[in-house]
Amino acid sequence: MPLDGKVAIVTGAAGGIGYAIAERFLREKAKVVIADVDTEKGAAAEKDLARLGEVQYMKADVGRRLDVHNLVAAAIDAYGDIDILVNNAGIVHGADFLDLGEEDFDRVLNVNLKGTFLAGQAVARHMVEKVSNGGTPGSIVNMSSINAVFAIANQIPYSVSKGGVNQLTKAMALSLAPYGIRVNAIGPGSIMTDMLSSVNSDPAARNRILSRTPLGRIGEPAEIAAIAVFLASDEASYITGQTVYADGGRLPL
Ligand code: NAD
Repeated sequence: MPLDGKVAIVTGAAGGIGYAIAERFLREKAKVVIADVDTEKGAAAEKDLARLGEVQYMKADVGRRLDVHNLVAAAIDAYGDIDILVNNAGIVHGADFLDLGEEDFDRVLNVNLKGTFLAGQAVARHMVEKVSNGGTPGSIVNMSSINAVFAIANQIPYSVSKGGVNQLTKAMALSLAPYGIRVNAIGPGSIMTDMLSSVNSDPAARNRILSRTPLGRIGEPAEIAAIAVFLASDEASYITGQTVYADGGRLPL
């Protein structure tokens, strides 16, 4: 079990990809903190996942520094350590460029990019202190997207935020490499979660995605979780600063 005994925080884990990552981490014998703004879904996820191992839901908005500070302190209090952080929380906002409001631009950037920075820095400070005291280095996984590489006209803040996540991942990897702490990102294509719910009710949108996806299907959250396990584990011990794309072959090679 590559994650046996490790302590992980997964943000945005009350549903979707984050939930699948928390579930898979628990199956790999990690102890998992589910951090999410949605208290109802968070509590339900904790209840559901408790059958697999040690899991706790903690309320946190990753875009708020105080929430993130409290989350990290509470996780260390509960489990004594943090070995893994998955910065998964993310939101979208659809609007054409000429109509896009400043508040919506800020809101998406605040969660997707600043949230990744805030949680990454808070957890990295703990990890660096641990290494300085002779402990083992940890691993951070950021959730990017294929839209880090190609923009969508009506998803501007989302595309910008994920491009930023890729650069942040590289900068964090460089800063933390001297401590042996690895930082990587995952860039999913279209994955069947609530974020993609509009596609379910719109056959034309679904067909558009499928026609651009060489594997001819939409991905499953578990397929992203499998990459998170690998990147978080010592199996990926010489990989840092990378974004691993999982998109059914959609990005041009
Ligand atoms: P989702 O909407 O199903 O789940 C996102 C979770 O994040 C929710 O539980 C939500 O409550 C939580 N969240 C939102 N704002 C938060 C905040 N401020 N603080 C803490 N939690 C917050 O979405 P998903 O599809 O599972 O997406 C997860 C990640 O994967 C996101 O970063 C997303 O950009 C990325 N991604 C998804 C797809 C896809 O096709 N689904 C593709 C590429 C990348």
